Amino acid sequence: MTRVFNFSAGPAALPEPVLRQAAAEMLDWRGSGMSVMEMSHRGKEFVSIAERAEADLRELLAVPDDYAVLFLQGGATLQFSAVPLNLMPAGGSADYVDTGQWSGKAIKEAKRYGNVRVVASSKDRNYSYAPAQDTWQPIDPKAAYVHYTSNETIGGVEFHWVPEAGGVPLVADMSSHILAGPIDVSKYGVIYAGAQKNIGPAGLTLVIVRKDLLGRARGDTPTLLDYKVQTEAQSMSNTPPTYAIYIAGLVFEWLKEQGGLDAIAAHNRRKAALLYDLLDASAFYHSPVRREDRSLMNVPFTLADEGLDDAFLKGAKERGLVQLKGHRSVGGMRASIYNAMPIEGVQRLVDYMREFEKERA
Ligand SMILES: *Cc1c(COP(=O)(O)O)cnc(C)c1O
Repeated sequence: MTRVFNFSAGPAALPEPVLRQAAAEMLDWRGSGMSVMEMSHRGKEFVSIAERAEADLRELLAVPDDYAVLFLQGGATLQFSAVPLNLMPAGGSADYVDTGQWSGKAIKEAKRYGNVRVVASSKDRNYSYAPAQDTWQPIDPKAAYVHYTSNETIGGVEFHWVPEAGGVPLVADMSSHILAGPIDVSKYGVIYAGAQKNIGPAGLTLVIVRKDLLGRARGDTPTLLDYKVQTEAQSMSNTPPTYAIYIAGLVFEWLKEQGGLDAIAAHNRRKAALLYDLLDASAFYHSPVRREDRSLMNVPFTLADEGLDDAFLKGAKERGLVQLKGHRSVGGMRASIYNAMPIEGVQRLVDYMREFEKERA
């Protein structure tokens, strides 16, 4: 068996020890005589798995007690609707920051439910930076919430600071960098993330919501999207994505074994530095993102001659370095280096990039 280094933006690589443990437990989970996939979600075995996953996540992110942790379905995309349905009253408005494709989709969806004000945008420079807060329009104190995408997966732009929402609940789509390092959950009203980048398998969506925001959902909100209903049902209003929760739980245990999120963050900084140092030193490769806003998770880059893209990708694949093609909307390359990407994978990529530059530049 040969495992490749998988730089996919999502679904993305999972930690190998997690996959090995899942394989070992596939047919008989800890003496239960069945796979986790075959268990009742209300049985004591699965309930213990879900409770452990939530407890470990709360420990990793230091989630305060006045926040609910929900394991839902529908992806981050369904949260583009769930957030306004839960927080924005009919006829209300919300403030959004527009930093790229994902925030654009969130804005488009929110417009179906109320008035959306875009208070800041980086569109003027092709979404290559995170607009500093002093360039934003003032937050509307009557806004239901302020929404931003803390890591734009496609553009590779990350907010390395937390916006000040002036008492208005702050909502963040953290799909592509949650668990990459510690966060101060208490600064947020709602945090949400699709699992398939840095948490676990596709099919699971994490929502962390401050409890005082529960119970505001509009009357026409589908029951399954109502955060209060899901909080009271401990995310089991209907059958939850049981196997995905189990794998996410194994990922949380793995993160704790790595030393928790401070240790993971240090590791992620070392990994990203390997790539960005090369991009900065090279005239052949180029990073389109403003230096201080570069993502530690998604590293887009272009080659001086895009006619060499296919040869670059082919050579990479021959070396077991896969899924490096940039998003179809931006072209070029993108290396996604989530928690599960070992530093050896990044080192192998950097070595290959040097070699390719030497041959082709
Ligand atoms: C991947 C991604 C999404 C979409 O997630 P789905 O789970 O496919 O709905 C939304 N926002 C960001 C920032 C993402 O990276």
